[in-house]
Amino acid sequence: MTRYQCDIMREDWEEPGHRIADHTSVGPVNWANIDTIVIHYPGNGPNYHPPTTIDGMKQRLLLGHTYYWSQRGYSYGYSWVVFPGGVTAEARGSDFRAAASAGWNHRSVAIQLQVHDQDAADNDQVREARSLIAWCEGQAGRRLQVLGHGETKETSCPGRGIAAQIAAGMFNIHDGSAPEPAPEPAPEPAPDDPIVLETVVAPNDGWWTIARRVYGNTDVQDNAAALQAANPGINLHPGKRIRVPGRATRD
Ligand SMILES: [Zn+2]
Repeated sequence: MTRYQCDIMREDWEEPGHRIADHTSVGPVNWANIDTIVIHYPGNGPNYHPPTTIDGMKQRLLLGHTYYWSQRGYSYGYSWVVFPGGVTAEARGSDFRAAASAGWNHRSVAIQLQVHDQDAADNDQVREARSLIAWCEGQAGRRLQVLGHGETKETSCPGRGIAAQIAAGMFNIHDGSAPEPAPEPAPEPAPDDPIVLETVVAPNDGWWTIARRVYGNTDVQDNAAALQAANPGINLHPGKRIRVPGRATRD
């Protein structure tokens, strides 16, 4: 799998137990199905200011990911994040399907532009986002439409400034020429597909330890038994991926 070379790669900000792979079971981006890039913003209100140092950006990514898996039950949903000054960072990248735009994740990748409140992206961010879009088109082998999140559902994302930039064609790397028609989208997964997440066994893990980590400190005995039942015949050696049943939320 080819990865877009970012200033901050995923392993630069992940920490043990807090990796994208620890809280999702989706596979890599299937470029054959991708016809759209969805643009997002932080949406954190006027008091939020995007980080401007590399360390601050790494912390922001880890915080975002921790918020996602602890509150939503799955990994940070964006494919890439572009910080002020055009510093690019890999979140899910192309290794994990995006989980950022409900109903569109099978056909899109997600770029979050880190801006303050309703601001527009700065010139470096626009330039870097365009080069990322061009790379995605190379992977997909076709032109991709660029939509703000609010064009896929009712949401204030990606904010007024970025929405205006999209409307003005600033992320259209073909400068106004007509895009090719989109392919037939792949069918949506049935809404009642069972969702099974995975986690990775850490050194000295037992079923009870894992149960506490993934489900919390209540009903530990029952949860450990459920984990064990979902992983018949598995030895808990470090690095082994095991199934975590019944916990969460589609991503
Ligand atoms: Zn969004």
